Amino acid sequence: MAAQQADVLLVGAGTMSATLGTLLKQLDPTLTITMVEALSDVGRESSDGWNNAGTGHAGYCELNYTPADDAGNIDIQKALTVNTGFETSLQLWTYLVESTALPDPTHFINPAPHLSFVWGEENVAYLRKRHQLLSQHHLFSGMEYSEDPAVLREWMPLVMANRKADKPVAATRVAYGSDVDFGSLTRYMVDHLKQADHFKLLTHRKVKELEQMSDGRWKVDLQDTESGERSRIKARFVFLGAGGGALPLLHKSGIKEAQGYGGFPVSGQWLKCTRPEVVEQHHSKVYGKAPVGAPPMSVPHLDTRTIDRQKSLLFGPFAGFTTKFLKKGSVFDLPGSLHAGNLRPMINVGFDNMPLTFYLMREALQSHGSRMDSLRNYYPDAKDSDWELVAAGQRVQVIKKDKQKGGKLEFGTEVVVAGDRTLAALLGASPGASTAARTMLDVIERCFPERLATEEWSRRVREIIPSYGQSLQDDAELAREVRARTQKVLGLYSGD
Ligand SMILES: Cc1cc2nc3c(=O)[nH]c(=O)nc-3n(C[C@H](O)[C@H](O)[C@H](O)COP(=O)(O)OP(=O)(O)OC[C@H]3O[C@@H](n4cnc5c(N)ncnc54)[C@H](O)[C@@H]3O)c2cc1C
Repeated sequence: MAAQQADVLLVGAGTMSATLGTLLKQLDPTLTITMVEALSDVGRESSDGWNNAGTGHAGYCELNYTPADDAGNIDIQKALTVNTGFETSLQLWTYLVESTALPDPTHFINPAPHLSFVWGEENVAYLRKRHQLLSQHHLFSGMEYSEDPAVLREWMPLVMANRKADKPVAATRVAYGSDVDFGSLTRYMVDHLKQADHFKLLTHRKVKELEQMSDGRWKVDLQDTESGERSRIKARFVFLGAGGGALPLLHKSGIKEAQGYGGFPVSGQWLKCTRPEVVEQHHSKVYGKAPVGAPPMSVPHLDTRTIDRQKSLLFGPFAGFTTKFLKKGSVFDLPGSLHAGNLRPMINVGFDNMPLTFYLMREALQSHGSRMDSLRNYYPDAKDSDWELVAAGQRVQVIKKDKQKGGKLEFGTEVVVAGDRTLAALLGASPGASTAARTMLDVIERCFPERLATEEWSRRVREIIPSYGQSLQDDAELAREVRARTQKVLGLYSGD
C-alpha cells in the first residue's frame, strides 16, 4: 500500500489536536502536518458546544477544585493551577485573534460571570472560608462574596425568585468568568490550519492500526468510514488526540508506557430550556456542590451558554452509566479495552467504585420529574414543560496502576509519552478543553525538547504565550499585565 508521509500526525480533530497543530505550525510553518478524523466534520465529539459545559474552567466557581478535609482545612492549590492553565489558553486565543487567525472572539468566547451558590449553615461556612482564602491571592482578588438575598437576587434572579427563606444562602461571583464554544473554536483553528502550507485534514478516516517501524517512524493504517477503502500514513511523530478513542489506540501502539492504563466511561445529559423568556433572565454560570457520593464531574450548574452565537440555558450535567468511550462509539468499547496489562487495575477500580457505578446507573434511570426536582434546587420556579433532555458528550476517566491498591480512578487528564518521544496520547477529560494550551505545551516540551530549546522556538513561544516560562501564580504584576491584555482583546469584562 502506497503511504503518505508526515512529520506530525494528529489523530482526531477535537480541540486538543487543533491546539497542538496550531502551536506547532506557529513554531515551525515548514512542518508537514496531517490531521485525521473519523467523523465527517471537525470538533463534533466532546469538543462540540452541546457536548460539554463550555465553562472556561479557571477555578472561580468549581467547588471540587477547593476540597475541604475532615478538619475543615481548604486546599486551594488545584484552583490556582487550573487558573494559570486557563490564562495560558486565553493568551493563545488572544494571540490568534490579534494575528487574525481567529475571528472576532464573540464567535467562540463570551463573558459569563462565574458563581458558586450554596445553602445550609455548613456549606455557607465553607464558602465563606473558601472566599477568604482565595481572594487573598492576586489571581482571585476580584472574587466577590455575599450572604445578602438582595445582592444574590441581583446576581442570579432565577435562582433567588420564590426561594424559601428557611436556610441561609451564600454565593461568590467573579464577573469576568467566561463561556467558551469549544466546538466553534476548534473549527476556526482548523480552518486556519487548512490555509497553511503542508497541512492536510482527512475526515471520514478512522485510524485502525499503528505500528512503529525500525527507523522509529509510525506506520498508521486508516479506513475510510464511507467507502471502506484502506490507506496508510507514515509519520515521525503521532499525537493520539482521539478523546475517548485515544485509549484503545494507545494500547494498539504497544508502547510500554501504555501498560496498566484503563478507562472508566461516564455519559452525560443536560436539561435544556425551551422557553426564550426564561433563557433571557439568566446571565451567568451558577455552580453548586456535588451531591454526596457523586463524582466530581456531576457538580450541578445552571449555565448561560452561547453556542454558534445563539444564547441558551442548560442545567446539568446528569452523569450516567455507559460502556461507550465516544458518543458515537460502540457499547463494546469498555469490554474491548480489557487486556492482560490493565486487568488488575480495572478489576480493583471496579470493586472499589461499586457505589459510584450504582450511582451512575441510578442517575441514568432518573425520570424527567426527578431531574426537574434537582433543577428546582437552583431555579425554584422551573416548569417541567419548559425543559427537554439532551445528550452531552462522554468522558473516559483514567484508570491507572497503583502500588497500594492495584489500580486507581483519576478525574484529571494525563499525557502519556513514549520513551523515544515519537508518540504522545491524551487521556482523561478534566479540566479538559480550558487548559488545552497548557497541556499541549506540555506535549511539546516532552516530545520536542531540542527544538524548543532553539533560539527560534523559544522566542516564538514567548511571542504567542508572553508568560511562558514564568509563574503567573507567584508574579502578581505579570498576572495583572497578562490578564489586562487578554480580557481586553477577548472582550471579557474586567470589572474596572
Ligand atoms: C459533559 C461534559 C462536560 C464538559 N465540560 C467542560 C467544560 O465545561 N469545560 C472544559 O474545559 N471542558 C469540559 N469538558 C471536557 C472537554 O469537552 C474535553 O476535555 C475536550 O473536548 C477533549 O478534546 P479532545 O480533542 O481530546 O477530544 P474530542 O473533542 O472528543 O475529539 C476527539 C476526536 O477524535 C476522533 N476519533 C476518535 N477515535 C478516532 C480514530 N480511531 N480515528 C480517527 N479519529 C478518531 C473523534 O471522532 C473526535 O472527533 C466536558 C466534557 C464533557 C463530556
